Amino acid sequence: MDRDPLRVGLYAPAPDLVDLLPGLGRLREADPAYVKRAEQAQAMARRFAREEILPRVQAIDEACHQDPSYVDWDLWQKANREKYTVGFIPERMGGMGWSALDATAVAEEFSAACVGVSALILFNTFGLLGAMVEFRAGVVLKMIREMVEAQRAGRPLFWSWAITEPGAGTDVEEARAMATMRPSAWADRVEGGYRIQGTKCFITNGSLAHYVVATLPTDRRRPLETMATFLIPAASPGFRVGTVERKCGQKASHTAELFFEEVFVPLENVWEPPGRGLRHTREILSVTRGFIGTVGLGIARGALERCIRYVYQTPFGDGRMIDVPWVQLAVADMLQEVAAVRAACYNFAMALDAFHVMKLFRTPAVRAALAALPERVLLGEPLAALAGNRRVSEAAGRLKQGRVTEDTVERFVKDASAVKVAGTDLAMRVSCRVLDVVGLEGMARKHGMEKCFRDAKAAQIYEGTNQVNRIDIFHREVGRRLESIERGGDRG
Ligand SMILES: Cc1cc2nc3c(=O)[nH]c(=O)nc-3n(C[C@H](O)[C@H](O)[C@H](O)COP(=O)(O)OP(=O)(O)OC[C@H]3O[C@@H](n4cnc5c(N)ncnc54)[C@H](O)[C@@H]3O)c2cc1C
Repeated sequence: MDRDPLRVGLYAPAPDLVDLLPGLGRLREADPAYVKRAEQAQAMARRFAREEILPRVQAIDEACHQDPSYVDWDLWQKANREKYTVGFIPERMGGMGWSALDATAVAEEFSAACVGVSALILFNTFGLLGAMVEFRAGVVLKMIREMVEAQRAGRPLFWSWAITEPGAGTDVEEARAMATMRPSAWADRVEGGYRIQGTKCFITNGSLAHYVVATLPTDRRRPLETMATFLIPAASPGFRVGTVERKCGQKASHTAELFFEEVFVPLENVWEPPGRGLRHTREILSVTRGFIGTVGLGIARGALERCIRYVYQTPFGDGRMIDVPWVQLAVADMLQEVAAVRAACYNFAMALDAFHVMKLFRTPAVRAALAALPERVLLGEPLAALAGNRRVSEAAGRLKQGRVTEDTVERFVKDASAVKVAGTDLAMRVSCRVLDVVGLEGMARKHGMEKCFRDAKAAQIYEGTNQVNRIDIFHREVGRRLESIERGGDRG
């Protein structure tokens, strides 16, 4: 007999994207392929989450607790075979061709099962997103070629994005703080490139990374004016991984200290020149913070679904816990909160597809190239050489600047921050409340709810603490206007 005929969410047999977001029904009339693809992405991800991730969650968490460097490579290989490691790469080039909507559906499903595993598999694509937001044709194509080759060979290829330093987390993400920060890592100009010195910390996938994308000032006394972005192969002499942190949550996703001891980086590996580093960081955050909101949504959903399953199966008085009115009200409260935040996360994803860098993949020139050229040409040496040409790269950069303006980026930082705070605070609230509902048994690892609680805390901190994200929201919505009024420029 089925012990759990109630089956919700992760435990349910069928996915339900349009049921969850009925507004998509209207969008489906206008753009059936867009919605259909997201439904397929959700169906595929839910199956993977339920069948592959869920059964291993507790064992992975415990293995990582013993050894913070532990990776379940068998699971990673399965995810790699299903191409989750190359999700954002266009299908014609060997990837899954995800839209932001597809990626959001996948992130929600994976994070509901285990946010640490979700981060291990999906955050790696942020390296590529970092290149995509600048639309640097040469860099993007180089990364795509390497990622597709590695995926096909079953070879891990990890990217890390290193901003945080021992004395500076927020400072490296925010202009006013950056102006007064004291960097603990920097790049000195030398013949043919830069020499990098210093430490970065708490870097996701840092111990696994084959490439590190790092923001560093070229003049320690003027970090704001000279922040640049560098691509550093982990095989570079002088690069070393330090401690892999023992964290309270998200243990399956490693964070590590990185040391740079006189690491030489040639000029061609300078992604963003001095002065553009903060801008680049903001552009990446304008996309990635929104995904962290979805990660929070997933954690909340995972906690709630585990709770519903538990109260359904647990006797209470003459019935079960789920029959108790106050349990029902608590569950209803959490369901409505999850539904509201889900709407915000998917709305953000669709806005990314419509207005941010994702829309560039739908420009006639890019679409025509992807449709007309065979894969061997798209991934071949001549196209890579052409894309690497300075003029071509600058033209692609101009195309992007023209279509995704600075104002759009700043608006998206604010929108992404709102979604990030909403999603990760929801994760904290719901994972805490399910422990209140379940009581003592919630502490037992086997039910997975205490893990959601630990995971939620970490999500509130990275990608900018939620306090700092709130400051971004306030500044964009109110602060800028206040400043303008104080300068006498806006009396209306
Ligand atoms: C699991 C995990 C993964 C991570 N992955 C990465 C990664 O891949 N790459 C990377 O570069 N970093 C990563 N980080 C680091 C993360 O981005 C930083 O921890 C975060 O930016 C906060 O920096 P901090 O811890 O130095 O806090 P600080 O900046 O020192 O802030 C300390 C406290 O002061 C508050 N605060 C700071 N400035 C202000 C202000 N102006 N007004 C009000 N309050 C303020 C903060 O909200 C916080 O509460 C990760 C962290 C974690 C936990």
